[in-house]
Amino acid sequence: MRRIAIVGSGIVGLAAAHALRRAGHAVTLYSDRTSRQWLDESRPTGTAARFDLALSFERELGLNHWDDVAPRGEGVFLTFCPTLHNRLVTLRGRLQRPFQAVDLRLQCARWLDDFDGETSIESVTVARLDEIAAQHDLTIVAAGRAELCNLFPRDDERSVHDVAQRNLAMLITRGAPMAIPGAAFLPVKFDFLGTDGELFCIPYFHKDHGPSWNLLFEAKPGSRMDRFAGARSGEEVVAIAKQVVRELFPWNSAWMQPMELADRNGWLTGRVTPTVRRPVGTLPSGRVVMALGDTAISFDPIAAQGANTGLKHARHVVARIAERGDAPLDAAWMTETFESFYAGPASFAWTFSNLLLEPITDPAKELLIAQCGSDGRAGNASAQQRIADAFMENFNDPRLLTPAFTDMHRSRSFIAQTSGKPWLFSAVRGRARIAAGQVQQKLKGGNPHVPVDAAPRPA
Ligand SMILES: Cc1cc2nc3c(=O)[nH]c(=O)nc-3n(C[C@H](O)[C@H](O)[C@H](O)COP(=O)(O)OP(=O)(O)OC[C@H]3O[C@@H](n4cnc5c(N)ncnc54)[C@H](O)[C@@H]3O)c2cc1C
Repeated sequence: MRRIAIVGSGIVGLAAAHALRRAGHAVTLYSDRTSRQWLDESRPTGTAARFDLALSFERELGLNHWDDVAPRGEGVFLTFCPTLHNRLVTLRGRLQRPFQAVDLRLQCARWLDDFDGETSIESVTVARLDEIAAQHDLTIVAAGRAELCNLFPRDDERSVHDVAQRNLAMLITRGAPMAIPGAAFLPVKFDFLGTDGELFCIPYFHKDHGPSWNLLFEAKPGSRMDRFAGARSGEEVVAIAKQVVRELFPWNSAWMQPMELADRNGWLTGRVTPTVRRPVGTLPSGRVVMALGDTAISFDPIAAQGANTGLKHARHVVARIAERGDAPLDAAWMTETFESFYAGPASFAWTFSNLLLEPITDPAKELLIAQCGSDGRAGNASAQQRIADAFMENFNDPRLLTPAFTDMHRSRSFIAQTSGKPWLFSAVRGRARIAAGQVQQKLKGGNPHVPVDAAPRPA
């Protein structure tokens, strides 16, 4: 049994705390808020849609309290517009197992109440952290992107961006139906506008109102979407959101019209500079502490990898502690533990997330073209559908397809393997479908509810 301290009652710190208790360790959790404060006075730190690999850890820990009530996100409905209003390609991909996005305030409050270790409610300073580290065999800092993350030096080689790539606005809404026009399943609606940024509409479970929609705007700085910075209230964010959607994504406008703010704290604006930090922080006394979750790797939310990777990170650290026996949990062990995690899932998540922040690569375009005609219907086993499904599954496990996004040979091999035909076949068919969709769009002006490449598929 080890004495372990965890600072931070976000989703990752709490999951680690529960897992370590299950493993028989004496765990003290330092939280700057009570569960009541999480529910009534906090903003959610993000949307935190989690996919099956991360959710399976929560299930293992008996923390999956919302499986029967939260909307089951079944996949993605992506509309790809290189320029304003030009719906060039749509993709409707299904997951093998559903994703889930539960209000982090509810999740953290409940997990804090469920915790049977020791809890100390305090905002931990560096001096206090030094005292805590002196009393424990291991001190884990899972304080998100708050001040304490500065104890961990930025990894300049891995942190490819010096500044945030998107200005963000997130809001939680109620009032709209729990279905997306044009989708035969419950997806995250992902509208991609090459010139301006991305809009995600995520099926969500709100702490008071239950099934609802979480909207995330990822605005390129200075673009037409980038209007949220001055907003002073959630109502203002809702009004700006509706205006932005009317102008940039008008096909969503009627569906969004009834949306209203779910609660006065249910919104965020800001930005994240994607950053990988070194896992070891050194305190004034020379003692060391270990970074976990957002404190170790801060993702822009574009690929929904922050909470997912953080939970995988927590699982990895807990397993490494078990393997360590009685040997010290020292700086060398912390570095080795992080490096073995980074070499596995984290580097793929990191690459995937950073790729989505950049203009689409040619190999990714080839995949997007090859999947044209996916409709997301259950039972559709066509090659196009399987490619679309693989794209979505990559959010769950970025090891699956991320390498193909930057390697034309891999991309074409994947298309050929999935379709059982030379890649060129899918390339020609996909381009023909896109050309037909463009003509249809020009002639008819596009129908907001019928994706442009949704014409009946050739047999
Ligand atoms: C808009 C947005 C949307 C997102 N969407 C997704 C998504 O769909 N999927 C996904 O996987 N990820 C998403 N993310 C990322 C995800 O929300 C984070 O990765 C995740 O919440 C991080 O969890 P954490 O526990 O590491 O940190 P946090 O959630 O930041 O929790 C840290 C906690 O530590 C506390 N704390 C800080 N300093 C101290 C201190 N000194 N003493 C005591 N306590 C302290 C904080 O108050 C906080 O409660 C999104 C992020 C944003 C911003």
